Amino acid sequence: MAQHYKNLINGKWVDSKSGRTFESRNPANWNEVVATFPKSTKEDVDDAVKAARAAFEKWRLVPAPKRGDIMRKIGDLLVAKKEELAREMTREMGKVITETRGDVQEGIDTAYYAATEGRRLFGNTVPSELPNKFAMAIRVPIGVAGIITPWNFPMAIPTWKMFPAILSGNTVVFKPASDTPKLAAMLVEIMMEAGLPEGVVNIVHGGGGEVGNAITQHRDVDLISFTGSTAIGKQITKDSADTLKRVSLELGGKNAQIVMDDADLELALEGVLWGAFGTTGQRCTATSRLILHDKIYDKFLSMLVDRTNKLRLGDGLLPTSDVGPCVNESQRSTVEEYVKIGVEEGAKLVAGGKRAADGDLAKGWFHQPTIFSDVTREMRIAKEEIFGPVLSVLRAKNFEDAVTILNNTEYGLSSSIYTQDVNNAFKAMRDIQSGITYINSATIGAEAHLPFGGVKKTGNGHREGGWTVYDFYTEWKAVYVDYSGKLQRAQIDNY
Ligand code: NAP
Repeated sequence: MAQHYKNLINGKWVDSKSGRTFESRNPANWNEVVATFPKSTKEDVDDAVKAARAAFEKWRLVPAPKRGDIMRKIGDLLVAKKEELAREMTREMGKVITETRGDVQEGIDTAYYAATEGRRLFGNTVPSELPNKFAMAIRVPIGVAGIITPWNFPMAIPTWKMFPAILSGNTVVFKPASDTPKLAAMLVEIMMEAGLPEGVVNIVHGGGGEVGNAITQHRDVDLISFTGSTAIGKQITKDSADTLKRVSLELGGKNAQIVMDDADLELALEGVLWGAFGTTGQRCTATSRLILHDKIYDKFLSMLVDRTNKLRLGDGLLPTSDVGPCVNESQRSTVEEYVKIGVEEGAKLVAGGKRAADGDLAKGWFHQPTIFSDVTREMRIAKEEIFGPVLSVLRAKNFEDAVTILNNTEYGLSSSIYTQDVNNAFKAMRDIQSGITYINSATIGAEAHLPFGGVKKTGNGHREGGWTVYDFYTEWKAVYVDYSGKLQRAQIDNY
């Protein structure tokens, strides 16, 4: 019998008032039920928000360094449980174990960063224009944060959001993706074990349309931090408009890697294999387009096809697996649909192209790593996010052409260029329209202490990670202290 997890509301583990449940299953073996969870409703969200609101009034008064001490404890517990969490993550969403270890490590890094931020959370002191007057700007917490996350980084993404939110003095109502509720539950258990007071973190499991919607429309939720698809991001912007919430959106991508004719081709090959097929292509920063300089196009393509055909599909817990399954049936169907679209558009299928269903693979949602060459910039497979193991290869005449092709997308999350020409490297840093640019490394590999986010339709201008995310979770307050003993009028009395 699969383990049953509950919601956490006000420090108590409780089932949904609806009495309904849902299952999380292993995408490498769909017969295996990982665990069951409450299928919650608006009523459960109301209870969680009420608990978070009440907890906020106490939590905001706890000194930030003390909040940081709990973050450090969370980091220590994550270190102790890293292997267990990684294995469960592979079982729940499919990516290979080396990658799930990395996902947990990102949570650890984020916890320790938050711990030290507890002793910073710097404000500013600023000279006043008036004598005997002191001016400063301080950060204050905002209130209740609604945290809505996707399934592809079940540990890293929730920690990117919840740790800075809580360290800043806010309280949280967390709705994880329906595909990865177990990892979310394990994370919240660890947060409680580390000593968070009741109500500071609350988790409500259930569907996006019901639980997610109830959070984004709730009158007593002040902030929403969402990572997911652009379509839902737009919906959330509308849903939270009536209550004028502060909303941070991290959305889709159509990231590209450029390989110039002067590049180290072996290095660029390792980069694109990792970027395109790591996490089965299901990363917001995955390499979905490869832009090859005309002079090395044929040679590089043949090197790439050769290596791609050698990638081994399989259960991510097996040391022999290079690429795991798609997360669920509908994600694999989307991949199959785009393969069909690519063929109809006239692109050339040069690797993969089919679901993989030999032997044990038939139990899961596997799809072959797939490459289309001769892709032109107008094709849908060059423009739309696929979120699976499909790479579109385009040809560029020169550096300027390559950058123009790269920028020809409505998204702007990650980008990469392989070149040994330092001038072109600096022009790329300047001219590529994206939130992240890598020089001589793959489109994936963000570090927890740097800003993370995208331009154009990848987001709405906020950043996660590092110091920048703390601007989202705090409000700036200007404070003036007048010790002159008389009324002093700014802009009037001293001019
Ligand atoms: P999704 O379908 O948009 O779901 C994301 C989250 O939103 C899930 O928890 C989902 O719940 C919830 N949700 C669904 N409908 C909702 C609604 N009406 N109101 C509120 N919440 C709702 O995205 P996904 O398929 O999980 O993830 C893939 C997408 O995420 C891709 O587009 C990818 O590029 C993007 N992504 C972006 C980043 C980034 O940092 N830019 C990082 C990772 C992923 P259910 O699971 O219950 O449906």
